[in-house]
Amino acid sequence: MLIIGSHVGYKKDSGLVGSVKEALSYGANTFMFYTGAPQNTKRLPIDLANVQEADKLMRENNIQKENVIVHAPYIINLATDDEEKRSFATSFLQEEIKRVETLGFTYLVLHPGSHVGCGPDKGIENIANSLNKVLETDEKVVILLETMAGKGTEVGRTFEEIASIIEKVNQKEKIGVCLDTCHINDAGYDLNDFDKVLDNFDEVIGLDKLKCLHINDSKNERSAHKDRHENIGLGHIGFEALLKVIYNNRLDNIPKILETPYVDKIYPPYKYEIEMIRNKKFNTNLLEEIRKN
Ligand code: FE
Ligand code: FE
Ligand code: ZN
Repeated sequence: MLIIGSHVGYKKDSGLVGSVKEALSYGANTFMFYTGAPQNTKRLPIDLANVQEADKLMRENNIQKENVIVHAPYIINLATDDEEKRSFATSFLQEEIKRVETLGFTYLVLHPGSHVGCGPDKGIENIANSLNKVLETDEKVVILLETMAGKGTEVGRTFEEIASIIEKVNQKEKIGVCLDTCHINDAGYDLNDFDKVLDNFDEVIGLDKLKCLHINDSKNERSAHKDRHENIGLGHIGFEALLKVIYNNRLDNIPKILETPYVDKIYPPYKYEIEMIRNKKFNTNLLEEIRKN
């Protein structure tokens, strides 16, 4: 079955109920959200009554909770050699894991981090050490390391780097991978030959570790190391190549999440992109239709 959704908001007043309603308005059967602003670590206590109401809404609309993805704030940097920063990031991640568990979800997507000068090998070691700390506890949450574009000193820009992190993690059942199509394109993988990319993923990491896909087109050419998402079919990856990822039979039942940009920074594109994906047909009036609504 196609499990598709997008990044949605999580607001102070409407909480998780608001997130579910937003996902439903896009015709999605899953979604991804941040438990607060993606760029900071300010977090509010969780309103359990709101979560119960959201659970009911998800049940009524056939959204399986295990398909819903939480994304950790992207300023968490476990790779840095700066002790103070890393220890802050590690304890914040610990708190975030607890929040995901309280909300009743399984998967937390995490950017591995940036080594900011100490080198990828030391970065990988730092990440693994922090992960070993936070995964020691009783929570069942699974951390999904996201494949990165290789912007700046980002770690996780090859499947090999992701595999070396996983190798050093003790509790391997609590670690998986989220593959982002824009990021791997920018990192240098050829999405025109996606089956080969998957073979490579399987060889280096193991396909059983793949638990989530981020479906984004890219504003940049392959190997650009930029990380700028584009709307589906309007970038350098293109509609046909993305469809082959989305409908690849080896990736059946893995949640696929759109993180494409709002059109003109104000109009969410997801309803139209999801529709296009379900129809398997590129909508040449995509931007106009999004703007009209
Ligand atoms: Fe991400
Ligand atoms: Fe992503
Ligand atoms: Zn990105």
